[in-house]
Amino acid sequence: MTSPASRKPKSPQPKILRLSGIPASAGVAVGPAFLMDTHHVEVVKRPLKAAQVPPEIARFEEALIQTRREILDIQKKIATDLGIEHGEIFDAHLMLLEDRSLIEEVIQRLKKEKLGVEWIFSEVLKRYVRTFSRIEDEYMRERTGDLEDVGRRILRNLTGAKRASLTDIQKQAIVVAYDLSPSDTATMHRRNISGFVTDIGGRTSHTAIMAKSLEIPAVVGLEGATRQIHSGDLVIVDGTSGTVIVHPDREMVRNYEALRKKLLDLDEALLKVKNLPAETPDGRRVTLLANIELPEEIPSVIAHGAEGIGLYRTEFFYLNREDLPTEEEQYQAYRHVAKAIQPHSVIIRTIDLGGDKFISKLKIPHEMNPFLGWRGIRFSLGQPELFKMQLRAILRASVHGKIKLMYPMISGVEELRQANRLLDQARKELTQQRKKFDPDLEIGAMIEVPSAALTVDLLADEVDFFSIGTNDLIQYSLAVDRVNEKIAYLYEPAHPGVLRLIQKVIEVAHERELWVGMCGEMAGEPALALILLGMGLDSFSTSAVQVPRIKQVIRSVPTFLAKEVVKEALKMPTGRDVEAFAKARLHQLVPELGD
Ligand code: PEP
Ligand code: MG
Repeated sequence: MTSPASRKPKSPQPKILRLSGIPASAGVAVGPAFLMDTHHVEVVKRPLKAAQVPPEIARFEEALIQTRREILDIQKKIATDLGIEHGEIFDAHLMLLEDRSLIEEVIQRLKKEKLGVEWIFSEVLKRYVRTFSRIEDEYMRERTGDLEDVGRRILRNLTGAKRASLTDIQKQAIVVAYDLSPSDTATMHRRNISGFVTDIGGRTSHTAIMAKSLEIPAVVGLEGATRQIHSGDLVIVDGTSGTVIVHPDREMVRNYEALRKKLLDLDEALLKVKNLPAETPDGRRVTLLANIELPEEIPSVIAHGAEGIGLYRTEFFYLNREDLPTEEEQYQAYRHVAKAIQPHSVIIRTIDLGGDKFISKLKIPHEMNPFLGWRGIRFSLGQPELFKMQLRAILRASVHGKIKLMYPMISGVEELRQANRLLDQARKELTQQRKKFDPDLEIGAMIEVPSAALTVDLLADEVDFFSIGTNDLIQYSLAVDRVNEKIAYLYEPAHPGVLRLIQKVIEVAHERELWVGMCGEMAGEPALALILLGMGLDSFSTSAVQVPRIKQVIRSVPTFLAKEVVKEALKMPTGRDVEAFAKARLHQLVPELGD
């Protein structure tokens, strides 16, 4: 028996920390954190002996040289890839590195205070950043960001902190990152990731969309997550409410484990509608589809009872590789998807690069407003050979299943005509090569730019169907960047302006006898789906996990009731009012969906 004196003192339970962010992917995950980012570089206060001061100064100088080398490398690479003027932005970084007053201040304080250089440097840096941000001169104020960037680089070199990689994850963990790149998210399904949280991002950033597709609970836009969570900390991620709890006590863990089970049970129970048609009680048939980014998601699409793929985001095929996919490779991939989803159809969307999806191989220049820049169809029309290669691959695959083709980011008739002209050329090229394709391939346009939403009558002459991309339509019509967590509260799918646009699109498309679907995240939110159903939307495409929920809504609500909800909703002055009302009605009409 151990005597009380020899018993180890219990380490105190660290303080429970509750963080609140943007719910990105529903579900609960509990586990140890895996910190990926060194965006915030941790520095400790280390007292030094007098003899340690000169080597510490040498270490600082070495870090400055190494940082200079890194910046010159990046500058060279950018100048070669994008042109000299793009490389020039790094001149400001280099100048800051050579700022003698900053360097001298660090060295003098180091000698006087005898503390580790990373601590002294970060203190001096903070003071500089404060001073820069208060300067009246706009040019100088804008240098604050440069200063922070260079400072972070120097700190990383001093502390040896490097960005971790998803491949370093050995056992189930919750990833904590500043942000995840499309290449990170594209490999997430192969790693032991039970949940993730990021400092930045909004509900429809590619990171959030991918989390939903992979059924990984996630919270984004947590601002200080990488600062407040350390590797190994026990973390609870509640992706339904957007809450993250660090160092939870036993009772919290028990409660959240119970909630996790309840949610999984609800998912399981909802699967009972899997093989039933998406039909309202009065017999109106709706098409219920799923979105995919990677062919690996097809089994989940089928398992959740979707009747096909309403959006295949092909740009993910271009990620995580050194080269560009050839026509043959793309043909094989699209053929595989078309065959795997038989007897249903797949809507293949041509690449939508730019915005928050970039690949290094294609030299997309850095832009001030990438979401308003060289993105989607604009990029494809600017690279006709690359675009035609994808079109030929899609056309060739079309004889192996039911394929439809769709263009992203259409803003007007001219773009649509140009895209169709290139499609015609691709058809001619294939005919010359005696390669087969479906001559009746249906062509659709995404409606995600307000000018397209307002000119559906004109676009109708050029296509066979429309698909409303609300992720972008909301950001463009409300002028709210979809990935900016600071203004995420303004990103309102139920905003009266958005609802009116959607209603108009459906109405006009139907007047022109074209079917209209929705593949934005809004189509997967049960309360809003109730409104969309009442507006007469023909097809809903959402992440596979949401399919049973939306089917339950469709199967529970007769058309006349859904129309009544629309009538009331359209009278309401704010998005919040609409959302609260739709949720309350959903609760009454489809109680089995829970809270
Ligand atoms: C959309 O904008 O709603 C959409 C489905 O496309 P993405 O999210 O890929 O931009
Ligand atoms: Mg879009």
